[in-house]
Amino acid sequence: MTSPSSQENDPMPFSAMGLSDSVMQALSDVGYETPSPIQAATIGPLLTGRDVLGQAQTGTGKTAAFALPILSGLQPGQDKAPRALVLAPTRELAIQVAEAFQRYASYMPGFHVLPIYGGQGYGPQLNALKRGVDVVVGTPGRVIDHLKRGTLRLDRLEWLVLDEADEMLRMGFIDDVEWVFENTPPERQVALFSATMPNAIRRIAKTHLRDPAEVTIQTRTTTADNIRQRYWIVGGGISKLEALTRLLEAEPFDAMIVFARTKKATDELAEKIAARGYACAALNGDIVQAQRERTIAQLKSRQIDVIVATDVAARGLDVERISHVINFDIPHDSESYVHRIGRTGRAGRAGDAILFATTREKRLFKNIERATRQAIEPMDMPSMAAVNAQRVERFKQSMTDTLEAGGLEQFTELVEAYRAEHNVDPIQLAAALARLAQGNEPLTLGATSTDGAAQADDKDGAAQADDKTAGGGKKAAKHKSTTDDSNMETFRIEVGRQHGVAPRNIVGAITNEAGVDSQHIGRIAILDDFSLVDLPQGMPDDVFAHLKTVWVANRQLAISRVENSAGASASDPRSKSGRAKDKPRQSKPSKKKNKPAAKKSKKKPKT
Ligand code: AMP
Repeated sequence: MTSPSSQENDPMPFSAMGLSDSVMQALSDVGYETPSPIQAATIGPLLTGRDVLGQAQTGTGKTAAFALPILSGLQPGQDKAPRALVLAPTRELAIQVAEAFQRYASYMPGFHVLPIYGGQGYGPQLNALKRGVDVVVGTPGRVIDHLKRGTLRLDRLEWLVLDEADEMLRMGFIDDVEWVFENTPPERQVALFSATMPNAIRRIAKTHLRDPAEVTIQTRTTTADNIRQRYWIVGGGISKLEALTRLLEAEPFDAMIVFARTKKATDELAEKIAARGYACAALNGDIVQAQRERTIAQLKSRQIDVIVATDVAARGLDVERISHVINFDIPHDSESYVHRIGRTGRAGRAGDAILFATTREKRLFKNIERATRQAIEPMDMPSMAAVNAQRVERFKQSMTDTLEAGGLEQFTELVEAYRAEHNVDPIQLAAALARLAQGNEPLTLGATSTDGAAQADDKDGAAQADDKTAGGGKKAAKHKSTTDDSNMETFRIEVGRQHGVAPRNIVGAITNEAGVDSQHIGRIAILDDFSLVDLPQGMPDDVFAHLKTVWVANRQLAISRVENSAGASASDPRSKSGRAKDKPRQSKPSKKKNKPAAKKSKKKPKT
């Protein structure tokens, strides 16, 4: 059995693997830093024409492990019949794999990949097959249908991939798979991936694969017991970003390292965390060594509290004050997991590791648990009440600190004089000063005034998920936005509920196409066949003209200004749309509401 080279400290970089220039270009765009273990182990053999039998599950990067070598050896449009066929158990996986091929082939003009699966009409599939495709990704049943009808030919096939073979077995596709094998040219190269290796799969491999390179990802199994490990399954209307925001606020931490998969993702996430008021920096392989060292020095000296890193950039990182490791993106394998969480619990201190996993990644997560032979506890995201309780605690702490720091003589005199002049209750007076110190920002989430009560429940917390990206809930719509309405203008866009639009689509389009920071997008009201959105006044003409043509939910925005909107907002669409029956379904509070109260200093408040 071949042990993957990536188990060593330095996996061979993509650039040394012999992948084609166009594939390398696409890889640089997607921002993968190094091959995942399954990629390190299979790309080489596949490029040299060997069959591969790989034990790996979704989330390990196995799609790229077969797609990259196939694309490297493929001349698009050489033949109308496909040169590669990938069999996948489900429609979702087939689509996902086809999308991955498309992404990795973005520098291969004329390349065509076609997902084919049951439940979809034959028409589009037939047309595409007639025009010619390079790669077909399909579920076994539908592939066989096409083969039997003669609409899919496999006589030019060079690569056959079985993805999630054990799932196909479980779903009763095994005879179909055999049938496909028998109807492909004997010299085709085969890559078979399976999370487990039941006998039936071994038998297929034995019958149809020629001297395959066998790849199993070996796992290191030591995690320190001074690290508390928890996981959260993404869901409940809370996005990963929102979850991270809540952790930053409610989880007492000293310094935190957040792991993301790609270089690009580290940059984007670091920016978002910084925008929420935390001293944060990205650490990835694109950042020059001197800068990386500076960042680590800043982390040590408490100028930075949060680092968003890729696995490679964080290798060997040893900073005692890292109290928390967040696996924002699940690692490819348990060894990376062990390495990642080992960034905390240094020098015998206690540490915390939190893993975010999507439902699809559950199996990978279970695998990590099995390999490390340690249970990872489930956790609930801190509720809005918990976030608020933390804010109140921090506020009280800042009072204590101020009292302890002393030097209050001048203010004591002033307050005494005021009380004597106005004869007010000292508690009321202190409360007025506290409000003054807090400024306009509400102290707690969901509060309509800054009186400090943590009244909101968890439902409200979920309703405010991820600013605009997850949309606001009913309750959120009731809260008064802190966006200054007088600087906002209301726009109408011709895409509404019946077109299936969600607030996040609108925010995405406006941030990407108009360069408006999502923070400056005000309320969004989605109505039946159009929507209203509040944007800062003074949108440049060219941006306005461009936004008219942008597509969202298959429709152009055709944005227009709502007359007399100054001072009003999308929260009251009836006042200007004349469609009183169209109640807004979604509206969202200003992003500022989600900001921690005591964050003005760019430095994480004491927790
Ligand atoms: P898969 O196991 O193929 O479903 O891949 C899981 C996820 O890992 C996908 O989101 C890929 O885009 C991502 N991915 C694949 N290879 C790499 C890599 N070398 N570095 C970082 N991310 C990767």
